[in-house]
Amino acid sequence: MKLKFTPVLLLIMFVVALAVPMFLSTGRLVVAEEVANVTLELQPTCGVRPTTNVAVASTQVGPPIEQPAPLTRFRRPLTAQSSSGHTPQEYQAIANQTNYGQRFVYDINGQLNNNQPIIVLHETVTTSQNAINFFRTRHTSEDNQASYHTLITLNGDIVYIVPPDLRAFGAGNSVFVGSRGEEAVRTHPKYPASVNNFAYHVSLETPPDGMNNGSSHSGYTMAQYQSLAWLVSRTGVPNDRITTHQAVDRSGHRSDPRSFNSQLFYQLLNNYPRTQEIIIGCRVPGYQG
Ligand SMILES: [Zn+2]
Repeated sequence: MKLKFTPVLLLIMFVVALAVPMFLSTGRLVVAEEVANVTLELQPTCGVRPTTNVAVASTQVGPPIEQPAPLTRFRRPLTAQSSSGHTPQEYQAIANQTNYGQRFVYDINGQLNNNQPIIVLHETVTTSQNAINFFRTRHTSEDNQASYHTLITLNGDIVYIVPPDLRAFGAGNSVFVGSRGEEAVRTHPKYPASVNNFAYHVSLETPPDGMNNGSSHSGYTMAQYQSLAWLVSRTGVPNDRITTHQAVDRSGHRSDPRSFNSQLFYQLLNNYPRTQEIIIGCRVPGYQG
């Protein structure tokens, strides 16, 4: 078939030619490539015990991450899995090392951390692009260090920011209350305990009418709910360990994700088989157990 350069086609080509470099240069998003035949093993990135020295703790950064990282650093596709309908685009925009850390085996007092993973849902309250730029910026002040593991844009694209074996800084002062009682882990001598050591933080891009302190907005797109269900089903985390920033927050200042339709989310989630393609955990270097 001969391709005719109609005005419409030319316009589309022009828009695409403009949009693609803009997206790549400002977003620094890299497509996460699939790699076949990978065994499911834990990354050797665990820290043993946090330092009790404030000065040392305040200069620590997370371990370096290969960039671009293979998709398997974020999700290890199970070959037997049959894909059911919705398949989101996956990208990566890896955070600056100041904005994430190791998951620790022991807390700051030497107590063993045996928490099972939880999912914490958030919203960005800014554009995806602004959030990503913030996470990719070096923050020497600990009060500004923040990150999610994964962000879901308004059109349902998935952007991996911190791999699941590492500790994203998604919640400050926070506690998860579940069937095992109160769960939180203190990893820093200057800050209260938080859920970060065992959390996988996922954030939904806020719609344009929600970029404010209001108590609600028009809500998230169907593509976001579908991609969120697709993602969460691959963590193997049971429904009773899926929570929100608002629910775990102890600072009294967090109410995200606002206008979240839980009923729709769980309806979509329960249609997916639960797999463990996303492994929320790590192992101590040298220890193979
Ligand atoms: Zn949040």
